[in-house]
Amino acid sequence: MKIIKVSPRGYCQGVVRAIKIARQTAEQYPDVPIVMLGMIVHNRFVVEACQELGIQCLEQPGMTRLELLDQIDQGVVIFTAHGVSDEVKATAKAKGLTIVDATCPDVEKTHTLIRNHVKHGDVLYIGKKHHPEAEGAVSLSERVHLISETADLQHLPELTDVLITNQTTLSILDTADLIEACRGKYPDARVSPEICNATSMRQNAVMSLTDTDLLIVVGDPHSNNSNQLREIGKKAGIPAALLIETADDLKEELLEGCETIAVTSGSSTPTSLTSEVIETLEQYAKTGVFRIIHQNRPIL
Ligand code: SF4
Repeated sequence: MKIIKVSPRGYCQGVVRAIKIARQTAEQYPDVPIVMLGMIVHNRFVVEACQELGIQCLEQPGMTRLELLDQIDQGVVIFTAHGVSDEVKATAKAKGLTIVDATCPDVEKTHTLIRNHVKHGDVLYIGKKHHPEAEGAVSLSERVHLISETADLQHLPELTDVLITNQTTLSILDTADLIEACRGKYPDARVSPEICNATSMRQNAVMSLTDTDLLIVVGDPHSNNSNQLREIGKKAGIPAALLIETADDLKEELLEGCETIAVTSGSSTPTSLTSEVIETLEQYAKTGVFRIIHQNRPIL
């Protein structure tokens, strides 16, 4: 059995930066309530590790960042790497909260692009409904229209000087299809693809896998980028693609009959969790004995 460690995989620069900012904030404000507006990343182990540092991650399904902000009256608020709207920033400031902004520079770049364009035109923003990054971008202006599927193109008002752009963590394949659908309706539109390098490199690495029987993606079931990697693997023709949270989800019967197994992980997945999966598989490949390996490596 051959184990391929897909590269690059795991934490991206934006997530590493957000975690560093969270740690520094916990050190700087030891006696002040610190609330993260949403999950720092979509990974429950990272969220739990933040809580151990004294940072509460405030997330409630269906609630916007602005609605969540209503629940914070004092202390420090951290904006996650997904970014927030200008209204959220202004409201936090008006409430007198100490603001720590961990928005990823790649997301900030898309916000700047949108802010500049809505001064003279409309924006079609390809993104996932209810995803915090899409919420932040669409809330920048009424001239930004969320496109999650081709049906969303049917009920738009009259648009002028259209720019097509997108969420940074989408599938490169699905986004290309939606951009084409947008251009079908607005042939003169300018396109500014914004999938970040970290996302496209991880997806391209999976797409280039050959002769692989099983793809294992380590990541949280709520992580958009981890789910995308599994979907890309399936579309690339890999016969089986699994998303698992930890090595504990591995079962010997899943591996039987596989000659080549590739392992990757989403950009929100702690390195230690992926390492445990790889080491469990490598030991199984070497000895034929299936035993889950646990390590005591830090999450953050
Ligand atoms: S996935 Fe891309 S946009 Fe998101 S935090 Fe990482 S580098 Fe930034």
